[in-house]
Amino acid sequence: MAVLFQKPIDYLKGVGPNRAQLLKKELGLHTLQDVLYFFPHRYIDRSQYFTPGQIPKTTAEVQVLGSITHMETVKQKRGSRLVATFSDGQHSIELVWFRGHQWIQKSLQLNKPYIAFGRLNWFGNKCSIAHPELEFLEDHEQRKGNFQPVYSATEALTKSGISQRVMRQIIGHLFEEIGSGIQEVLPNHILKQYQLVDKNTALTTIHFPENQEGLAVAQYRMKFEELFFVQLQLGLKKLHRKQHLKGIPFVEIGQYFNSFFHNHLPFPLTEAQKRVVREIRADLKSEAQMNRLLQGDVGSGKTIVAVLCMLMALDNGMQATLVAPTEILAQQHHTSISKLLKPLHVNVGLLTGSVKKSVRTPLLEQLADGSLPFLIGTHAVLEQSVTFKKLGLAIIDEQHRFGVAQRAKLWRKNSVPPNILVMTATPIPRTLAMTAYGDLDLSVIDELPPGRKPITTIHRLDSKRLAIFQFMREEIIKGRQVYVVYPLIQESQVLDYKDLMDGYESIVREFPLPDYQVSIVHGKMSAEDKAYEMERFVSGKTQIMVATTVIEVGVNVPNASIMIIESAERFGLSQLHQLRGRVGRGASKSYCVLMTGNKLSQDAQTRIQTMVRTQDGFELAEVDLSLRGPGDLMGTQQSGVLPFLIANLKKDGHVLKSVRHAVDQILLQDATLSQEQHSVLRAALTLTQQGKSIWKYIG
Ligand code: ADP
Ligand code: MG
Repeated sequence: MAVLFQKPIDYLKGVGPNRAQLLKKELGLHTLQDVLYFFPHRYIDRSQYFTPGQIPKTTAEVQVLGSITHMETVKQKRGSRLVATFSDGQHSIELVWFRGHQWIQKSLQLNKPYIAFGRLNWFGNKCSIAHPELEFLEDHEQRKGNFQPVYSATEALTKSGISQRVMRQIIGHLFEEIGSGIQEVLPNHILKQYQLVDKNTALTTIHFPENQEGLAVAQYRMKFEELFFVQLQLGLKKLHRKQHLKGIPFVEIGQYFNSFFHNHLPFPLTEAQKRVVREIRADLKSEAQMNRLLQGDVGSGKTIVAVLCMLMALDNGMQATLVAPTEILAQQHHTSISKLLKPLHVNVGLLTGSVKKSVRTPLLEQLADGSLPFLIGTHAVLEQSVTFKKLGLAIIDEQHRFGVAQRAKLWRKNSVPPNILVMTATPIPRTLAMTAYGDLDLSVIDELPPGRKPITTIHRLDSKRLAIFQFMREEIIKGRQVYVVYPLIQESQVLDYKDLMDGYESIVREFPLPDYQVSIVHGKMSAEDKAYEMERFVSGKTQIMVATTVIEVGVNVPNASIMIIESAERFGLSQLHQLRGRVGRGASKSYCVLMTGNKLSQDAQTRIQTMVRTQDGFELAEVDLSLRGPGDLMGTQQSGVLPFLIANLKKDGHVLKSVRHAVDQILLQDATLSQEQHSVLRAALTLTQQGKSIWKYIG
């Protein structure tokens, strides 16, 4: 069976060597299986048609019923066109051809009812269709299934005569060839419980639908299957990890944790923080390795949770490390965590790319001999030269900034992989998290610390800059501090850099010494200079911080109350949200000002309006997902998201929910898939592992 599906398309009726070559090159269709899974990208309802007197004034693709009453060739600058009058007796439209006149003229009959199909063109009140598909009304009425698939095509294909009709024919031949050879891959009890049609019916219907209802049922079934096997694999992976990968259990809650928790917490934890600490505690206590994602909106207080986990490691004689994506953030964590732990007399090391050799060498020694319990740092921590005596816990902050490979490096920092906690403020919609991070356990901090005042977000045009300067002045007089952030996008670095420097200069002019001090931080500065400028702002020596997005993640200056984002239209929603999260951290009322020019794209408008409307990270993430699609949202570094053929994470959250339910149920009952009723799954998975795509399990 599998062999049949792997046959090259050259053997298919209607596909000669030339067409095969084209289909391979243009659409990547190599085997019968590829063609089978080449799903239509949309459908046209061909049961509906208009007469020329009724057609709507749109440029949609429609069907028109009429007869050709007249045909003539009209000369034009280059060549000529064939024009037919298509009439219902009273009204008419024109059908136009720019090629193939002779053949068309010969094959068409005058005064016989046809259905013409194509896109409407309007010129004033005159309507025409260029290169329509024409079918006798008689044939049209006899044809079964008025619901017609439309396949993706390329210009090269169309030019070589592989039209929609030909594509449909090829797929027809495919089904003749494979007969009823499509095998079911889902267990019977799942089909029944979730009311799914069998696979053969589903695939046939997707290519040859008869009506909307049948099509929807077929599509649901294939979406379910597609998501099912992704979830099943993730679920199995997770189970496998839990069963076979021995972790480093933190049996004790000891003196360090207790002393800190009872005597030195700087504030009472929120209920959500307490809950996630309990969830993490349960993981760490168990024999299995922890691999958990901690999700919490900007400012929800993930850092203190990280600190508590590190103390659990220490209580069990283990080392812990916290890795952040930028030097600024690592430094800030180092400063604040050292301060928090001061009463416990615990040493906290800092390792970044700019740590000098004289400091680095003894630091590495202390890590290797185990005398330094905690290390905070950047990517530098991942380097091979950094070894721990007994690393029990590795925490990654702002994990979306790290790739999978980098995470893997942390796994290898100990003979037994350390427990892993990855933290993110990117509010990934749950549907996406379930798919992308299905092999991680998920904890969510869904509550902000008390007393946070909502941030007022406003949109201002560049032309209103003077009013904004005035507003800044008023806030600075009250003792507040201001961020002004510029975009810095890789491709246009030079220009962006100029914008930043111009902006900086105009601010320095507007806010002169000695009354005002302005800091600047950007990627071209040395780490030392950045740290120096950052420190001046943190300690309140400067009132304004002009920066690129290096301050986007994690920076915490509670006294800052205004975030001004220049060229806000150039930022993505999650970035804007992260930036806004830098303010509203202290006692005073905070503002976020989005500056833009007055010409905005549709997408940019939606982004800005959404920012103004809501501060809810999850709502923002949903909008972001619908604007950009999941691939983008995860960032290119995340290879966790698979390209789906039919499922759409934007729209199919409800399917995914059922799928999750089904998979959980199966794995709970039969984690090894050894029951007879699950033999289809075993077979399908074996095939999956052989191929790259999750679709290779078919056949
Ligand atoms: P994020 O989740 O964005 O990393 P942080 O851990 O930086 O958030 O916390 C943001 C701010 O909130 C910090 O100033 C922190 O001290 C404060 N904070 C965290 N938890 C609480 C709490 N339970 N009560 C009051 N303030 C808190
Ligand atoms: Mg943080």
